[in-house]
Amino acid sequence: MKFANQVAIITGAGRGIGRAIALKLASEGARVAVVSRTEKNSVQVAEEINARFAGLARPYSVDVADHAAVQELCAKITADFTRVDILVNNAGITRDGLSMRMSVEDWDAVLATNLRGAFNFYQGVARGMMKQRSGRIINIASVAGLMGNAGQANYAASKAGLIAFTKVIARELATRGITANAVAPGFITTDMTDVLSQEIKDGVVKQIPVQRFGEPDDIASAVAFLASAEARYITGQCLPVDGGLVM
Ligand code: NDP
Repeated sequence: MKFANQVAIITGAGRGIGRAIALKLASEGARVAVVSRTEKNSVQVAEEINARFAGLARPYSVDVADHAAVQELCAKITADFTRVDILVNNAGITRDGLSMRMSVEDWDAVLATNLRGAFNFYQGVARGMMKQRSGRIINIASVAGLMGNAGQANYAASKAGLIAFTKVIARELATRGITANAVAPGFITTDMTDVLSQEIKDGVVKQIPVQRFGEPDDIASAVAFLASAEARYITGQCLPVDGGLVM
C-alpha cells in the first residue's frame, strides 16, 4: 500500500484517464477526492472506488476554470480529509480547428480549463503542502504540447504552457519537499479520442512505434510512480507515455 494514509485530489476523474488514475491510487491505499464537472460522473467513480476499496473516495464537482470555486473546494476537501498529499491536474478539453479560423471563444475555453484549471488547483493546495513540507503535483499535459498538432493551436499551447508551469512550480517548491512533474500522454483510448474518424486513427497508429493507442491504465501507472516515495528525486520533468511517438 504505497499511498496508505495519503490523500489525493484528481481532477477530471469522472471518466477516462482521470478515472483510471483515481482507481490506481485508491488501489494502493490513497484516499481520493474524485473531482469532475458533472456530478453524476464523480459520484459514479467514487461509488466504484468505495465498492472495490472500502470507503476511500468522496465525489466533488466543480468547473476547474472557476478560481474562486476551486479555492472553496480545496478548502472543503482539506477539511473533509484533513490533508492533501497528491494533486493530479487531469481535467482537460479539446476544441479543435485550424488556427486561422479558430474562434476566440474556443481559444479561451481550452486555455481556461487546461491551463488556468491547473493553476487554480495548485493555488488551492500549495500552501498546505508547504506547511506539511511534502507533496506531489502531477500535471497531465500531452504530446501535442511537445510536438504541436495541426488543428490544435489552443490545446497544444495550453499543454506547452502546462509543461512550463510545471517547471516553474518545481523550482519554487523544490526545497519544501514538494515535487512537480508532468506526464504527456500520446493517443489514449478515451471519449476524447473516440471522436476521431477511423481514417485519422489509422494515420496516427502508423506514426506510433508500438503501433497502437495506449490505455488509461498506462497513464495511471506513470502517475502512480511519480506520486510515490520512489520518485522523490524527480522534479520538473515531463514524461511522455506515448508508445514512442515522441523521441
Ligand atoms: P475525457 O474527455 O475522457 O475526460 C475529461 C475529464 O475532464 C472529464 O472527467 C470531465 O468532466 C473533466 N473536465 C473537463 N472540463 C472540465 C472542467 N471545466 N471542470 C472540471 N472537470 C472538467 O478526457 P481524457 O480522459 O481523454 O483526458 C484526460 C486528460 O488527458 C486531459 O487533460 C487530456 O488533455 C489529456 N490527454 C488525453 C489524451 C488522450 O488521447 N485521451 C492524449 C493526451 C492528453 P465530466 O466527466 O464531468 O465531463
